[in-house]
Amino acid sequence: MGEDVRSVIIVGSGPAGYTAGLYSARALLSPLMFAGYMSGGQLMLTSDVENFPGYPKGIGGPEMMVDMREQAERFGLEVQDKNVERVDLSQRPFGVWVEGEEFRAESLIICTGAEAIWLGAEGEEEQKGRGISTCATCDGAFFRDEEIIVVGGGDSAMEEATFLTRFASKVTVIHRRDVFKASKVMYERAEGHPKIEIKPFRQVKRWLANEQGLTGAILEDPRDGSEEEISCAGAFIAIGHKPITSFLENQLETDSEGYIVHKTNTMTAIPGVFAAGDVVDKRYRQAITAAGMGCQAAIDAERWLEDQH
Ligand SMILES: Cc1cc2nc3c(=O)[nH]c(=O)nc-3n(C[C@H](O)[C@H](O)[C@H](O)COP(=O)(O)OP(=O)(O)OC[C@H]3O[C@@H](n4cnc5c(N)ncnc54)[C@H](O)[C@@H]3O)c2cc1C
Repeated sequence: MGEDVRSVIIVGSGPAGYTAGLYSARALLSPLMFAGYMSGGQLMLTSDVENFPGYPKGIGGPEMMVDMREQAERFGLEVQDKNVERVDLSQRPFGVWVEGEEFRAESLIICTGAEAIWLGAEGEEEQKGRGISTCATCDGAFFRDEEIIVVGGGDSAMEEATFLTRFASKVTVIHRRDVFKASKVMYERAEGHPKIEIKPFRQVKRWLANEQGLTGAILEDPRDGSEEEISCAGAFIAIGHKPITSFLENQLETDSEGYIVHKTNTMTAIPGVFAAGDVVDKRYRQAITAAGMGCQAAIDAERWLEDQH
């Protein structure tokens, strides 16, 4: 291993990346992290995190990510706020290209997360985090006794709608068609719930808001363009997520939805390439689960590196 070859390069700086950084730094592997286009990851987009253990009063998302970075840097994690453009996984050490510069690493930990797919309706950008969310587990509790809408027709939409009935006075599920991708059991559970109304043939044309946040939406029937107004304090978009893997240029096995697949523990089919967090996990999608998997990936990478020497 030449002097310019790093033991570990971590791609991505969300909870998975920083936890992988903390563990590999404490294992004296001198990890290098590329934090990417959104340093700190998805939690930089949220004001309150109330479900990460250790913060009894809750904490702001950006504040938590600054803490995570500081903690990992204290043990020697080197962070560069740059995006990885491409990688070469065909031989070891692996190649990593960043702003035209080439880096080499014995092992890689990929923690590039996933992006929620948004509707792109008028007024959406302004209301993100002010009533419009893509995570019911994260934000549902902010809407106690309020009316909520859920957009989508798959299992996630039905699951989120059913979960949100714990808080909301009413949940309206809107879907642009009358054919639902959700499994029969999930659909029926939602449809039979006294607090849930399912409205097919509706799409959001425009979000409505005042200074306090979201107040409702103008819905449109895609068949004839007719409109109706609905009031709601919260809206949850559940039309899917997209894992961020394009920089890998199909060099790693993914499932049918594009999520990276583990082969042995957190190692992918390519020995020395590990993955953690939302880029792997379409089920839990939480900061704590991403952090947990980042820890596992760092430990797996450390043991794998040890076996190589
Ligand atoms: C609005 C909102 C609120 C949320 N609230 C909560 C909550 O209250 N509690 C909770 O547990 N979870 C919450 N979540 C979910 C939580 O944020 C995610 O589960 C978690 O951030 C996933 O962590 P991750 O490390 O896998 O990836 P992310 O946090 O998605 O981080 C991905 C990282 O990869 C980097 N990256 C991407 N491409 C590249 C590249 N080519 N080169 C280098 N870096 C790259 C990005 O810059 C980013 O830093 C929320 C999510 C959102 C969107």
